[in-house]
Amino acid sequence: MSKSPNRPLLRFAPSPNGLLHLGHAFSALYTWAAAAALRGTVLLRIEDIDFERCKPEFTDAIFRDLHWLGLDWPTPVMHQSQRLDHYAAAGERLRDLDLLYPCFCSRAEIAAKSTGTDPDGAPLYPGTCRHLSAAEQIERLERGDPVQFRLRNDRARAMTGPLTFTLVGPLITDRPQIRYARPERWGDVVLQRKGTPTSYHLSVVVDDAAQNITHVTRGRDMEASTDIHVLLQFLLGLPSPIYHFHRLILDGEGNKLSKSRNSQSLAALRQAGWSPDDVRRELGFAPRQLN
Ligand code: GLU
Repeated sequence: MSKSPNRPLLRFAPSPNGLLHLGHAFSALYTWAAAAALRGTVLLRIEDIDFERCKPEFTDAIFRDLHWLGLDWPTPVMHQSQRLDHYAAAGERLRDLDLLYPCFCSRAEIAAKSTGTDPDGAPLYPGTCRHLSAAEQIERLERGDPVQFRLRNDRARAMTGPLTFTLVGPLITDRPQIRYARPERWGDVVLQRKGTPTSYHLSVVVDDAAQNITHVTRGRDMEASTDIHVLLQFLLGLPSPIYHFHRLILDGEGNKLSKSRNSQSLAALRQAGWSPDDVRRELGFAPRQLN
């Protein structure tokens, strides 16, 4: 395949904090099928910034499971844990714009004062630490209080004005539509934590741009986070890819499969005798063609 700069580039970006399950298999197979429809390529990215939960053995298991499914990707593979300086630089840029502030609130304090929830159902940050003086901020930082850095959502939106993003669907090859982003519904999201110079939102926009991703395919459960991603892309001067959201795989009770619910892993299914084609059929994909 030629290396044209306009070649569609998609990505699959799992977090190695557990074993992949059928929900991941669906998302992976979907992304590789979308790339085939666009004559593009899928890059694999290992999102291992959560140092407490991510483990190298889960990264190995991701490679093993995806290869077992018959999927392939260019190397070297990007690992977010190797890119902390890039996220720190993006954070500095937001700090220079006076858009980050330190927050020392505990979860319980936030829940007690919050007056609403974000699209994920988490309590909206009530803004308590916005009002700390510079002297208080310095004192608490020097004391080593647990800190996270939040985005000044209102100030950021005042800088950007209304924002839109490009969406395609229901098919990846459909005509693009323009949607308004609604970052206000997320409040002052956390973008950095003590010891980790990035949150998911920050690293994902930095890396989608660094990898020249043209199409982001991910589950519908992540559709709302696009609001924050386009806001950050604008503030950081990064391009905004085309977004496409796929259906979710649910368990018998209608819940999204998840590692925390102990959904059965691909490794367990493989041990129980499932073949890659059994997985494909179960998820509504045609069995692999023999060549
Ligand atoms: N790392 C995220 C996850 O495993 C996915 C990130 C994305 O697709 O933007 O849920």
